[in-house]
Amino acid sequence: MRPFPSAGPQGARGLVAGVDMGATHLRLCLQDPQGALVYSTQQPTATVIRDGIARGVANLITGQLSRLGARCTGLVMGFPALVAKDRRTVVSAPNLALAEHAFDGLAGRLEQSLGCPVAFYRDVNLQLRWDVAENRLERQVVLGAYLGTGMGFAAWLQGEPWTGAHGAAGELGHIPLGDPQQTCTCGNPGCLETLCSGRAMARWYHQAARDYPLGELFRYAVDEPAIQLMLVRGAQSIATAINLFDPDAVILGGGVMDMPSFPRGYFIAHIRQHVRQPLPGNRVRFIAASSSAFNGARGAAMLAARPVDGAPGD
Ligand SMILES: [Zn+2]
Repeated sequence: MRPFPSAGPQGARGLVAGVDMGATHLRLCLQDPQGALVYSTQQPTATVIRDGIARGVANLITGQLSRLGARCTGLVMGFPALVAKDRRTVVSAPNLALAEHAFDGLAGRLEQSLGCPVAFYRDVNLQLRWDVAENRLERQVVLGAYLGTGMGFAAWLQGEPWTGAHGAAGELGHIPLGDPQQTCTCGNPGCLETLCSGRAMARWYHQAARDYPLGELFRYAVDEPAIQLMLVRGAQSIATAINLFDPDAVILGGGVMDMPSFPRGYFIAHIRQHVRQPLPGNRVRFIAASSSAFNGARGAAMLAARPVDGAPGD
């Protein structure tokens, strides 16, 4: 028996909720148990959480549930953050710039308000869950490399996101393959993200007057040493992950890879150059991530509707 008070009308249909909370936008999806999207919304994060995260998110969800005459049977919420193995504790979220105690007791308070289990994930795991479903890869070994503001990375093993012993697995952006003279946002010296991230790319762009917009960088500056170094280090890092995990497929996405003229073929060729032959080199497939802003929230709702369809053990 679930240790939650019943919420919502008796006999109301059950929906799962997925929330993807970014620094600027918060996205919510409600799905039925079969995975069909019932409702989605995107709102400024600051507006939703102005009276606290728990109250803001619970009000957003319960308000919509009451309009639909439905109740919530599970919530998964994702953050650009380090989330502990218990899936209830946000350990470190420097990109959200919130007060130190903003996350205290959050999972328990949401469970009280919604009357259903609540779990937290790092946001890249939500995107990977979506990409795995969209490409029907549930039973396979899948890596997701998402080059956006940072170098996001996630692994899908045995039917679920692999989170390691402490919840901190998959920090490819923080391997020491960056600029040793720079301190990373995580506090360590020389992380990959100091060279290979949207943040690093924008910093380079603003170091001089350019006669093209940042969004057109790959059209005008792909041969610049700093951009070449970003691509090469990114490719080397992804190749390393492939050699470690031996995946069936690698999803490539993120805001930087979605930019016009991103040299995708060149990038994949560089990855392949370092992948162990004949295996996994001859077998590993590269798949483009789908890039809708709602994928994270949809993936969150899928995780809330566990068990995974087609996964071992279900
Ligand atoms: Zn770092």
